[in-house]
Amino acid sequence: MGNIVAIVGRPNVGKSTFFNRLIQRREAIVDAVSGVTRDRHYGKSDWNGREFSVIDTGGYAIGSDDAFEAEIDKQVVLAIDEADVIIFMVDVESGISPMDEDVAQLLRKVKKPVFLAVNKVDNGARTEQAMEFYSLGLGEYYTIAGINGSGTGDLLDAVVEAL
Ligand code: GDP
Ligand code: MG
Repeated sequence: MGNIVAIVGRPNVGKSTFFNRLIQRREAIVDAVSGVTRDRHYGKSDWNGREFSVIDTGGYAIGSDDAFEAEIDKQVVLAIDEADVIIFMVDVESGISPMDEDVAQLLRKVKKPVFLAVNKVDNGARTEQAMEFYSLGLGEYYTIAGINGSGTGDLLDAVVEAL
């Protein structure tokens, strides 16, 4: 049984906001070892008395859209390899993007537990909007607002249960 949770998803969906909430005052370790891992942050958190490590994956715009997408894919592949549980974050405000579909395609093949977190669900209308994410083919999702913590308790209950 491992205890590593990775947060993946395209830029601007709110991964780092959620990560910072998880680690709170604990210090994040920035891994500056190589180009591949440059934009990954490691921290520690706990929920329901269960300690775990959490990885915030980055992804930075480099050159063409294709190169950018390849970089995000690389982060996802690394996370799949390294993590015991994966949180795939998407953004209800912007809706499904081709990059989300690309990541979903990778994650559908994974045997490890994957939790789809629809972020920025700040009001009732957005709860309705979140339903479009069923089309990613990953089943049930959790609606959260990382900025204020709404919904994150249910997500974390499930995450630590799966560790
Ligand atoms: P990342 O690129 O996936 O790490 O995304 P960030 O955590 O940097 O957040 C991108 C933007 O989304 C920032 O402006 C955040 O303040 C905003 N954001 C993050 N979580 C929420 C949320 O729950 N609701 C709303 N409305 N905005 C959010
Ligand atoms: Mg970030």
